[in-house]
Amino acid sequence: MNYVIIGNGTAAIAAIESIRKTDKQNPITLISRENAHCYSKPMIAHLTADEIESDAIYYRDKDFYKTNNVKTLLNTSVASIDTNKNLVKLENNSTVSYGKLLIATGGKQVVPPIEGLDTNGVFMFQTLADACAINEFKSKVKHAVVIGAGLIGIRALHALEKNNIKVTIVEMLPQILPAFLDKTAAGILETLIRKNGHVIHANTKVLKINSKNGAIESVTLSNGSTVPCEMAVLATGVVPNIDIVKNTKVKSNKGIVVNKHMLTNVPDVFAAGDAAETTDASRNIAAINANMPNAYKQGAVAGQNMAGTIVEYDGSMSMNSVEFYGVPCITIGEINPREKDEVFILQSELSGFYKKLVVRDNIVKGAILLGNLRFAGTINKLVQSHANVAEFKNEILTEGKKWFDFIKNNWKDDMLGNVQWAPGLSSQQKYVKKVDEDVLKKREQGRF
Ligand SMILES: Cc1cc2nc3c(=O)[nH]c(=O)nc-3n(C[C@H](O)[C@H](O)[C@H](O)COP(=O)(O)OP(=O)(O)OC[C@H]3O[C@@H](n4cnc5c(N)ncnc54)[C@H](O)[C@@H]3O)c2cc1C
Repeated sequence: MNYVIIGNGTAAIAAIESIRKTDKQNPITLISRENAHCYSKPMIAHLTADEIESDAIYYRDKDFYKTNNVKTLLNTSVASIDTNKNLVKLENNSTVSYGKLLIATGGKQVVPPIEGLDTNGVFMFQTLADACAINEFKSKVKHAVVIGAGLIGIRALHALEKNNIKVTIVEMLPQILPAFLDKTAAGILETLIRKNGHVIHANTKVLKINSKNGAIESVTLSNGSTVPCEMAVLATGVVPNIDIVKNTKVKSNKGIVVNKHMLTNVPDVFAAGDAAETTDASRNIAAINANMPNAYKQGAVAGQNMAGTIVEYDGSMSMNSVEFYGVPCITIGEINPREKDEVFILQSELSGFYKKLVVRDNIVKGAILLGNLRFAGTINKLVQSHANVAEFKNEILTEGKKWFDFIKNNWKDDMLGNVQWAPGLSSQQKYVKKVDEDVLKKREQGRF
């Protein structure tokens, strides 16, 4: 029996580690379109920002594949699979046979119909190769346009800014990070972006890339303006990369459909990571929750099942984090409430922090924590566990005694070592008050 893994990202690496925990013998072949050792995709932003050494992007030792007895076929694209003959068909027309197969092909860039996308100076921001291409080009750039203000667009903005490049970010929806933040939280970050000299066009599309002598010169927007620039970065969203299962027996909707064992509808064919459609633990619906923690867990569960240890995946979580101008932000689960949901908000406008909790039928469905991430892990656990919070729901954000008691009684390990509940104002309320008082005092003294 042999294993074949298509992909060399988080899910693939987790699967290798998981298989090798129980099966040290049977051969593993890894096939990846990219010609790179396994690297962290989020780190491509730090590489472009010149914040890390180029080697820091790789998250496993150089001899990882050798140590785990994995044969690698890098720079090799899979064209399709034949589930009748247990064959992987490569674009170079050769085939690889499998006993157990994992499809971990990640996501692919959505390419909108913008005229001139093939112009010199237009980049994607998905892979290490994209980051290297931007790095080679960026010294010529003073002004760039980022198309799309999702997580990847915002990361691109941050990376370009670190190179003293002014950015115009264009988003077709009314706010930045539309899938990730509500209007209030987005507004806080938009203010920061503008304060730092960048321009945001919301409710606007890029229609055309204009060029001169083959190089980008400007972009034309749907609001009638033309923005001069020497670079554009396409960040218009990602969808599951499932082309290789089209016209096969493997069932897919938005992503490849898997059961709790990360097994597809076809025996011996598993899928994991951004390519897989799993059950969202908070909403209990099929969803693509494309992030690294989900990809790692799914890959690990797939690997164990492929190696014969039957384990179940407990569902994916919509969870994202970003840090911007020193303001950290995490969103968990559902952040846009339904009509009858209860919403709890704790906000300090002066210090710029904002926390929101969405509760449905006494169960926490989602949260936004911006500017202060205390208890983020525990709130995540609340969402995942579907715990009943009727007794303390109005004390979670304010860190009241009943909330502390709940954690102590149920998840003792989650208590922050130095945080004790204090009677009177909760520690969180005290913190809000103190921060605002400090800001006011400084303002009165004319310090800012
Ligand atoms: C700029 C950026 C920033 C991000 N920031 C964050 C973050 O802060 N936090 C977070 O949780 N997530 C972040 N993500 C998302 C995160 O990187 C993904 O969720 C994660 O990498 C998914 O892992 P995966 O293994 O499913 O797929 P990927 O890591 O995408 O790997 C897919 C692999 O499949 C290979 N492949 C694809 N098609 C073929 C084919 N036909 N033949 C052979 N090989 C193929 C690719 O070469 C690649 O090796 C970010 C992504 C990007 C691009």
